[in-house]
Amino acid sequence: RLEIRNITRCFNGRAVVDDVSLKVMPGQVTCLLGPSGCGKSTTLRIIAGVDMQDSGEIYIDGNLICDTVYRVPPERRSVGLMFQDFALFPHLSVAENVAFGLVGARAQKRARVEELLTRVDLIGYIDAFPHQLSGGEQQRVALARALAPRPRIMLMDEPFSGLDNRLRDEIRDDTLSVLKEEGAAVLLVTHEPDEAMRMADEIALMRGGRIVQQGAPYNLYNAPVDRAAAAFFSDIN
Ligand code: ATP
Ligand code: MG
Repeated sequence: RLEIRNITRCFNGRAVVDDVSLKVMPGQVTCLLGPSGCGKSTTLRIIAGVDMQDSGEIYIDGNLICDTVYRVPPERRSVGLMFQDFALFPHLSVAENVAFGLVGARAQKRARVEELLTRVDLIGYIDAFPHQLSGGEQQRVALARALAPRPRIMLMDEPFSGLDNRLRDEIRDDTLSVLKEEGAAVLLVTHEPDEAMRMADEIALMRGGRIVQQGAPYNLYNAPVDRAAAAFFSDIN
């Protein structure tokens, strides 16, 4: 369970993230949805621990991870990352890529790698190298790699934006079912309302650094908080 409370981050005197609070439950996908520049990636970077807030607190499973004086380093936050410009290690095989963040006995690591590659339907590619895979297949390996150490929290920043439409739909559905099986709390950043409608259990609509509305997708769609929110959702098919 991820909880952030009253997170604010300023650049050059401007609050790019402005008093943002959020809860993400295990097994659930929460979408941080909003137009370009509204502060989505900055929020994610702060949760991941690669940037730091000016005020506010972050909790994972009820434990304080970061406030303005105390800070757990990124690698000890049990957070999995999947970003748009994800890159597999080109010189490592699929199996080695997925095993990269794993510690422990060899046989145990191998079992986890096989489990995940089966789950993303790529077990046949276990000894292949990244350049032998399509973009969508690489994306699924990246998902397996991010999930391998069983992160409590999965942070995804526009992970599907490099794919063509047909592939994107497919990967979204596959990704969703794998994430649900693994039971992580997922925070997915997107600027596309239809992606949020399709994937989210809960949407947090962000604008100008603030969350302006939060709730189930159909609530935001049926009862937008204002004209701008209505316009934002209006071109969904
Ligand atoms: P997009 O959908 O385009 O990815 P975003 O919602 O992820 O947008 P952010 O990347 O969080 O937006 O950026 C929010 C604002 O903060 C932008 O105006 C950006 O220019 C500014 N910003 C982000 N990082 C920095 C930085 N290190 N220094 C100064 N300004 C920054
Ligand atoms: Mg961004």
